[in-house]
Formats: sequence, structure tokens, C-alpha cells
Amino acid sequence: TDDQFKKVVAHAKEYGFIFPSSEIYDGLGAVYDYGQNGVELKKNIREYWWRAMVQMNENIVGIDAAIFMHPTTWKASGHVDAFNDPLIDNKDSKKRYRADVLVEDYVAKLDDKIEKEIAKAQKRFGDAFDREQFITTNPRVLEYKKRGEEILHRLGKSLEKEDLADVKALIEELEIADPETGSRNWTDVKQFNLMFGTKIGASADASMDLYLRPETAQGIFVNFLNVQKSGRMKIPFGIAQTGKAFRNEIVARQFIFRMREFEQMEMQFFIKPGTQQKWYEYWKETRLKWHLSLGMGEENYRYHPHEKLAHYADAACDIEFRFPFGFKELEGIHSRTNFDLGNHEKYSGKKMQYFDPEENKSYTPYVLETSIGLDRMFLAVFSNSLQEEALEGGDTRTVLRLPFVLAPTKVAVLPLLKKDGLPEVAEQIVNELKYDFNVAYDEKDAVGRRYRRQDAVGTPFCVTVDHQTLEDNTVTLRHRDTMEQVRIAIPELRNTIAKEVDM
Ligand code: ATP
Repeated sequence: TDDQFKKVVAHAKEYGFIFPSSEIYDGLGAVYDYGQNGVELKKNIREYWWRAMVQMNENIVGIDAAIFMHPTTWKASGHVDAFNDPLIDNKDSKKRYRADVLVEDYVAKLDDKIEKEIAKAQKRFGDAFDREQFITTNPRVLEYKKRGEEILHRLGKSLEKEDLADVKALIEELEIADPETGSRNWTDVKQFNLMFGTKIGASADASMDLYLRPETAQGIFVNFLNVQKSGRMKIPFGIAQTGKAFRNEIVARQFIFRMREFEQMEMQFFIKPGTQQKWYEYWKETRLKWHLSLGMGEENYRYHPHEKLAHYADAACDIEFRFPFGFKELEGIHSRTNFDLGNHEKYSGKKMQYFDPEENKSYTPYVLETSIGLDRMFLAVFSNSLQEEALEGGDTRTVLRLPFVLAPTKVAVLPLLKKDGLPEVAEQIVNELKYDFNVAYDEKDAVGRRYRRQDAVGTPFCVTVDHQTLEDNTVTLRHRDTMEQVRIAIPELRNTIAKEVDM
């Protein structure tokens, strides 16, 4: 809901996760900076992905290609001609919106209605409530679901045919209004290219028009043979990459969900033609398993098969996540055929083929792609983890229940008092643990307040040094989620924490 979403944005800023870019100049639309905690969480998500894709798969290697690429790249990829989104202007407010996004938001509202029905029934039936049964049989839920599917199907068809009049008709029929002003006075839908242009070189005539890459994938395609040959890779094999991408998104909304400068984590898997169906199923499943391994609730994910297939794809689906504003795309799984390598071969005149020693012949490999936005994943994790919890005695606490493996700081060390030698012992513990984890030290305010501060940034463990520590070398170890405290010997801290934070 809106309220929940506002809390997410406010919390991200207050606790050093995300700041608006250039805030002292009133910010820059859809551009954000990551603060001291945000940068750690983002890095941990990136590493969690990298470990699963590269470290755990013998046949997947990583690269780090440049953001600038030769301009012909974007002709071959289709972005110069076809990286267009339908754009609609509101006559009254003079604001522009992506028409497809407006329609998708409408469908997300139907999802919201479904959730409300579920919540209502859950309240009524308590423990006896069977969610799965309810959503497959309740007539109202089925009606909303059907409606949503029909709308998306129609949107997909019109976009595929580039029938902009039909997109506009859909907006009018659904009585979609300007999200800011409520006006329904739209003008025509136009196409708009999302790539940012820039120039390389100093002198006017020797300069060259470039684009900031709108996706990381092309850096992998153009290096396909470099990696294959230098790494003696045999098909099937994958190349993974994380890095910045840039899109001149039209509306600045929904925080880091849709940014103009963002980071992608992509993997292109090169396969024998004809095996794409098998690999499509494999990566669809494997990627969902990766998401589920974080323990953020199976009911928060779903597949959404694409109605509208991009010009390069022969099968595609999204893994959607339940964001505070409804189910939305988090990751895409695309079967891209030989579109990219074939086109690069055409435009560059260089052979992009693989010699298959088993088949004893050369061919242009097919590609199966998994593509996820790092910032969007950050939002998924962050919004899902932020919870207000009622405590005994009427108090509430705000706790960021991040998966431990992703938490920016794994343990905070707190001397109960700022005297009697307790800070010195605490410092010593910090110095021992910092080789293995990000450790925080905090001696300000009452210990209860310090616990709350660590809860709010998602720190799984707090270690408190008190007077008993001086006698028997034990400390209390407090668990973020249960708030339980146990007494533990200092030499056991490292292993106890390491076991729980998956390191
Ligand atoms: P959308 O329809 O939401 O614009 P898309 O289908 O164009 O996204 P892809 O081109 O498939 O997205 O990009 C792959 C992934 O990159 C998406 O699943 C998303 O997580 C992420 N992504 C795309 N655009 C943005 C953006 N503007 N800001 C943040 N993440 C993005």
C-alpha cells in the first residue's frame, strides 16, 4: 500500500541506505545514491548472485565490459530502431507517462484487490484458511485475475502490432487517470527512444556519437568469442556480468524500482540451437529457486509469461515479486535465439560462430538470458524486510528482517556502560571479529535504544559486554528476530555467528 511504501522510502533515507541524488540541489529525477548501509546491502546482493551464478557453476564465467560501446552495437542489437516505449501526454497537467506502465499499474491495483479479499477471508477463517484453494475458487478473485490477464493480453497484442491507437483506447476504456492530477485528458500516444546519447572525443568533427548502454548484455555478446577461445569454453556455457545501465525513463516514480541509472546482473547462456526449450525451463526454475533461497516467502513470487515477445525472443517470462505497489517484474528470463550473435556477425562482418567438436561443425549458438535489476532486487529485499512489530506491553519496534547473508553489518558490539573497562573489552571483540564480518561498535545511549538502532538497519546479532564479562569472559548475544539473549563465551562468538550468517 501507499503508506507502507512511504515508510520504505523514509526508512531508507533515515538509516543511510538510499538518498536522492544531488539532494542539496533538490535531487535529480529517478537517480539515487546509496549510503553507508545501502552500499553494503547492494554489494551483498551482488555477491549472493555472483556466487550462485559464477562460483557455483563450472561452465559460467564473469566479465566486466565497458559502459561505452561502438555505436554500431546498438544498431545490431535493435536498440536504435526499436528501443521505444509508448509515451502519452496529459493535456491538462502537461506530464508524460509511459502508456504501458499506466496500464500495468492498473492491473497491479486489481492484484491489490485480490490481496484484500484474501486478507478478509484470512481474518474470517483463521487457521482453517487455505490460501491456494481460496485463490483458485473464489469468484471475485477469479474475476479480478481474469480481467487483469485480459488487459495485459490486449496491451501485449497492441504493442506487438505497434498499434498505438489501441493502446490509447485501452487507457480510455479503463478510465485511467493522471496519477498526480487525476485528469483523464490524454493526447496521442507516441514512441520514444530510451537511450541516452553522448559524444566521445574533443574536436567537433572527430567526435563520435555514442550511447550509454541501456543493458549490459551487448558487452557479453561482442566478447562471446574472446571468452570462448581464451577460456576454451565448450557449449553449453555462460557469461555473467554486473554493471551500470542507463535508460531515459519517462516518469520518475516508484523510487528505485525504475531508475535512469541502474545496475543489472545478467547472464547469457550459449547453447546448441534446438535446445532452447530445455534451457529456458531450466533457468526459469533455477532462478526462482535462487529467489526462494532467501526465505522471503514463496507467496511473494510468481511467473508472468510474456504476451508480447520482444523482436529477439522466442520465449520469455518474468519472475514477479510482490512490491508494496503490487506484483511487478523483478527478473526476466529470455530465450533470445541467435538474434544477437547473428546480427553482430552481419554488422561487423566477423564470424560469431562456434565450432562444436562433438558435432564436427560450426554454428551460431542460441542464447538463454537471465536478467535482473540489482536496484530492483534491493527494493524487493528492503521493502519485504521492513516490519513494524507489536511488543508485549504495548510498545512497537521497527525491525529490518533482512536475510542474514545480506545484512550490511552482521554484528554490533555494545559495552553496557562507558566505564569500568567495558569499552576496552568491547573494542577488543570488534578487533577480533572484524576479520570475518562487518562489525559495528556503539556506546551511545541506553542499551535498549542501541538494540533498536541495530534492528532498524537489520543487524542479526548484538553482543553486549557487561560486568560479568570481566569475571568470566562471557557476553550476551542478542538475536535480532527473536530478541532472545543468551550468555556465550567470547571465544565462541565467531563460529556461532558465522554459522548463522552463512559465511
Ligand atoms: P520494464 O518493463 O519494467 O521497463 P524491462 O522489461 O524493459 O523492464 P529488461 O530490459 O528485461 O526490463 O531488463 C531486465 C531487468 O532490469 C528488469 O527485470 C529489471 O529488474 C531491471 N530494470 C530494467 N529497467 C530498469 C530501470 N529503469 N530501473 C531499475 N531496474 C530496471
